[in-house]
Amino acid sequence: MILQNWWFTTLLGIKEPIRPPLRGHIKTDVLIVGAGVAGLSAALCLIGSGKKVVLVDKNICGGSSTGKSAGFLTPDSELELSQLLRKYGINGARDLWGVAAKGVEIMVDNIQKHRIECDLQVQDCLFLGKGASGWKDVQEEVESRKKLGYSSTIYEESEVPSVIGSHVYSGAIRYSGTYGVNPLLYAQGIKQVLLDNGTEIFESSEVLSWEGHTVHTHLGSVTADKIIFCIDKPKPEITKYNQSVYHAQTFLSISEPLGDEDIAKLFPQGPMQCWDSDLIYTYFRLTGTKRLLVGGGDMITTYAKNDTTTPRVIDHVIHELKEKIPSIRPLRFTQYWQGRIDMTRDLVPTVLIDPERPWTHFVLGCVGLPWGTFCGNFVAQNVLDDQALDYEKYYRYFSPNRKFVIPLWMESIFGKRLVFTINNAWAKYRQRDASAKS
Ligand SMILES: Cc1cc2nc3c(=O)[nH]c(=O)nc-3n(C[C@H](O)[C@H](O)[C@H](O)COP(=O)(O)OP(=O)(O)OC[C@H]3O[C@@H](n4cnc5c(N)ncnc54)[C@H](O)[C@@H]3O)c2cc1C
Repeated sequence: MILQNWWFTTLLGIKEPIRPPLRGHIKTDVLIVGAGVAGLSAALCLIGSGKKVVLVDKNICGGSSTGKSAGFLTPDSELELSQLLRKYGINGARDLWGVAAKGVEIMVDNIQKHRIECDLQVQDCLFLGKGASGWKDVQEEVESRKKLGYSSTIYEESEVPSVIGSHVYSGAIRYSGTYGVNPLLYAQGIKQVLLDNGTEIFESSEVLSWEGHTVHTHLGSVTADKIIFCIDKPKPEITKYNQSVYHAQTFLSISEPLGDEDIAKLFPQGPMQCWDSDLIYTYFRLTGTKRLLVGGGDMITTYAKNDTTTPRVIDHVIHELKEKIPSIRPLRFTQYWQGRIDMTRDLVPTVLIDPERPWTHFVLGCVGLPWGTFCGNFVAQNVLDDQALDYEKYYRYFSPNRKFVIPLWMESIFGKRLVFTINNAWAKYRQRDASAKS
């Protein structure tokens, strides 16, 4: 197995994978820094607005988390509906599930409207319970969906083999409105749409410093009326809001193509995108080229400070999955890669207008392609002064001043990594906000 991102391999066929870096000084109405799904979504929203838009990225468009991701498009990212319900109550859960669902909708609309070739797969979600606690999680998710009026199908232990070729799961919940996508081809497709519509894009252009309305890269600078930062791993020299964000690492691998008989054994009712109820969960789905994409991690490396490049973790994940699903035991996996997903202490993004520089927006810590898509779109609409969205409500959910079980100052004593881990676990499994009483 070689260390190589499969989505980067699929870029080999495209005409222009990289734009030249920024050179010299330019002026613009809106500058977007960061071309992951969030920055791309913001730029797309500004098409036709009459604003001159410049987009810069230190990598290629989609080259960071977006283009490393597994491409599951589902409103369920790190926070399941039952967890949103506990934390925010019915109205809050509806709002925040609605954010991610809207993000999915925007992405699928973009793909269809602009005919982006990015291996869009219509695939139901299948959340697989493991053991007694996993079955409880499945039931809670079904109950939560009922409360909010969302449909789903529940499978008891004996029924699970009718949807997945395994006898070890204790139950499952399935629902639709979810998709799989090649996220790097999606990002590159949006890049082409932007270029066709007059957005200036500079890749290999890291913003190194920033003062007033001007940002500087190695070879150039941009002065803009409005600036939107949609960056990952933010450095303190760019913003003090880098404090809001840490990361979690996850690993992916892709197999050789499966034969039709093997696919039928694995997914008796057709391909689905699956993940299980473990804290560090295993996830898998079939791509359009019939390869099995498998992801997961372990406790030790999830919150590691730097990238872990050994195949050890994903080898273990694959081994465990093969133990559960006998038909995939002979399957060979050919490439693996990893990525660190930026996240906040409570797994909800931080989105703000910088109070000291009100012409500047930040979108940070989006856990999930749909969240990034929604938030990019949201800030761009704000830049356009579109009053259609309920600004106050979303800025409250995404405020940088949210409270966490272990306060920020404790990080200087116990370290960001440990405190973040506890805050993440608290937000996911325990946190109950005042609004949850509603
Ligand atoms: C291995 C892995 C699997 C995942 N699987 C899924 C999945 O299946 N489904 C899902 O919904 N989500 C998944 N995610 C999460 C998802 O990828 C992210 O939540 C999402 O891509 C965040 O988008 P973003 O635009 O906020 O950030 P990013 O995609 O990280 O984009 C930020 C951009 O900013 C640029 N940048 C940073 N600093 C600067 C600077 N100073 N100057 C210029 N540019 C800068 C970076 O180069 C980058 O392109 C996964 C992530 C990983 C790593």
